[in-house]
Amino acid sequence: MDLSDTREEAEFRAKAREWLEANKPSGMVDRGFALPIDAESIRILTDWQRRLYEAGYLGLAWPTEYGGQGKTIIETAIFNEEMARVRAPAPLNELGLSMGAPTILEHGTEEQKKRYVKKILACEEIWCQGFSEPNSGSDLAALNTRAVLQGDEFIVNGQKVWTSLGHIADWCMLLVRTDADAPKHKGISYLLVDMHSSGVSVQPLKQMTGEAEFNQMFFEDVHVPRENLLGPLNGGWGVAITTLMNERATLSLATVMRFHNTFEDLAALARQVIREGTCTLAPRVIRQSLAQFYVDVESMKYLAYRNFSRLKRGGTPGPEGSISKVLWSELNQRMNEFALVLQGPRAALTEDSRHVIDGGRWQYGLLRSRGNTIEEGTSEVQRGIIAERLLGLPKGY
Ligand SMILES: Cc1cc2nc3c(=O)[nH]c(=O)nc-3n(C[C@H](O)[C@H](O)[C@H](O)COP(=O)(O)OP(=O)(O)OC[C@H]3O[C@@H](n4cnc5c(N)ncnc54)[C@H](O)[C@@H]3O)c2cc1C
Repeated sequence: MDLSDTREEAEFRAKAREWLEANKPSGMVDRGFALPIDAESIRILTDWQRRLYEAGYLGLAWPTEYGGQGKTIIETAIFNEEMARVRAPAPLNELGLSMGAPTILEHGTEEQKKRYVKKILACEEIWCQGFSEPNSGSDLAALNTRAVLQGDEFIVNGQKVWTSLGHIADWCMLLVRTDADAPKHKGISYLLVDMHSSGVSVQPLKQMTGEAEFNQMFFEDVHVPRENLLGPLNGGWGVAITTLMNERATLSLATVMRFHNTFEDLAALARQVIREGTCTLAPRVIRQSLAQFYVDVESMKYLAYRNFSRLKRGGTPGPEGSISKVLWSELNQRMNEFALVLQGPRAALTEDSRHVIDGGRWQYGLLRSRGNTIEEGTSEVQRGIIAERLLGLPKGY
């Protein structure tokens, strides 16, 4: 595999880098994988996504008739790499871009593709993912939110939970049960639901960071037009798998670039505490740990390239995404934890202390990273997928 740029790719990269350097929003605090919650960050990231779209840097590999750029996933990968290099933040409508639009492009009708994809790209409509429920997370197919077809409308009743960005979303990818008598995977449908519909209510849920990126949502007699059904009636499970595979695959490609930056910051922190003489760890322990983190980040990179070259040959994201998911989520926890070990007693300081290192970013990072091995499917569930679908081990082995 030749990973070097062709002349055209090198030109695209140089132009993208120049544009990003000139246009990226300044003054945003690095919050790792957390989603924006305060009004000012939401405003900055909405504006940022609009500028990315207007400059032609979003939906690079998507068809032009739906607002994309008609290029290939090579340009997408190059652009993601450059975004990470200049430490530009992710656009606001991350869930719409990484999951909603790819699912609509694969399963949607012509009208649905025309109606939704462009508005996702232009950040005119923010999306959230209404999959998890109080009694169905890992066992997603056990979901209970019901939709009954009455004439040309579904009437939806039920509860969703842990819905990231639900509080600012305009639309929701909603999984509902439409046939209670069918086997659990066969009675599910996938609806595109207007979050401003009457009967939808959203309540924020606080995380251990003290912030509320996610919510619980209630649906009480919500009327959803039949034309908002994505894919076949009672065939929503296959559509949901597309969303989940894209969630794991797309995020892992962009994510690996961000890990290089985190690694560099961690190495800089190690140098700082050694210089100041405040670190009680033996230098050889620090060296060994940093070298291991470097190995892990490099492994992630080559795994991402392998997944990427499969996609380039025309494949769709598959269960291989679970390997990247386990790697990045557990690595992020270990890196944040090590950053606090390096800080010694100063690790106990909070972000409002003037002596706290790096503005408290590592303390925040450790708390937020706990969710990494839960969101998008837990590590245990990902290992189950690897065992079953990649290793061919029998279920429950
Ligand atoms: C930060 C964050 C953001 C999220 N955002 C969204 C969102 O936007 N939309 C959305 O729909 N959901 C979202 N989620 C929910 C997430 O997808 C679920 O939390 C996750 O799927 C786990 O489900 P659960 O919480 O019900 O845990 P459970 O499924 O109850 O799992 C509990 C424990 O049992 C283990 N377990 C369960 N089944 C198995 C098994 N078969 N084998 C081995 N171990 C098992 C799990 O690994 C876990 O340790 C988010 C979660 C977090 C933390």
